[in-house]
Amino acid sequence: MPELPEVEVIRRGLAPLLEGRRFLGLEVGDKRLRQQSTPEELRRWVVGHRLVKLERRGKYLRFDLEGGATLLIHLGMTGRLLAGPLPTPPLPHIHLVFQVEGGINLYFQDVRRFGQVLVFPPGVKPAPLEQVGAEPFSPEVTAAWLLAQARGKTRPIKNFLLDARVMAGIGNIYACEILFAAGLHPATPAGRLTLKEWDRVLRQTRRILKLAIAKGGTTVSDYLNSKGESGLFQLELKVYGRAGEPCSRCGAPIVRLVQAGRSSFFCPACQPEKD
Ligand SMILES: [Zn+2]
Repeated sequence: MPELPEVEVIRRGLAPLLEGRRFLGLEVGDKRLRQQSTPEELRRWVVGHRLVKLERRGKYLRFDLEGGATLLIHLGMTGRLLAGPLPTPPLPHIHLVFQVEGGINLYFQDVRRFGQVLVFPPGVKPAPLEQVGAEPFSPEVTAAWLLAQARGKTRPIKNFLLDARVMAGIGNIYACEILFAAGLHPATPAGRLTLKEWDRVLRQTRRILKLAIAKGGTTVSDYLNSKGESGLFQLELKVYGRAGEPCSRCGAPIVRLVQAGRSSFFCPACQPEKD
């Protein structure tokens, strides 16, 4: 599932290609995404308008259009947003194709259809963004701020990191990697971390997300960038998906633990439980 780095890589690929250009047309496939504006709404508010700015909030891509409408795209679990000539023969599961000035096709492909393509008319605040927490790189996010957010919380730090209402964009892969780098057991109650530990978590969060963006994101199953290329950060993963393999730091076998229905991977020696 794409997380912050993958969405940011897509944004960086698309922004120079699309900003300043006008959307000229839209073709829709037979099957709708689970959350998709109607073709009429998309045509009315997107087609004929120039893209002013392409930004990212959490795992959302936000297209600010001339005229004031906003197009929001979320990749869900298996969504891909690609730009370029349409492949021949056509790929299966293409839900939408926007024709953009300059002969560009911007198309959304999503096998599992959990992706979202939603348009909000001028003056309407995009509701999904109201639920999105702080950006990990934002200056308002400090160790002291995280300590305050977690105060009194008994849920595990792993689940706290996954909570997009607190900090946006961190999913299962990066949460596992951040906790390994910070030397914290994933089951540690979030409210028990010290300021020093939050400082470690925040520094590792930023380091890992930055590195993952530089490496083009992580491809473990479906993710591709806007040109259809895989990421490379999967080669840097220290614990995610490595159950039974020796820890790169100490050699102890990596353990898999199920938390809130998701797999956590950690080194029991490098990430001991807090007493
Ligand atoms: Zn270890």
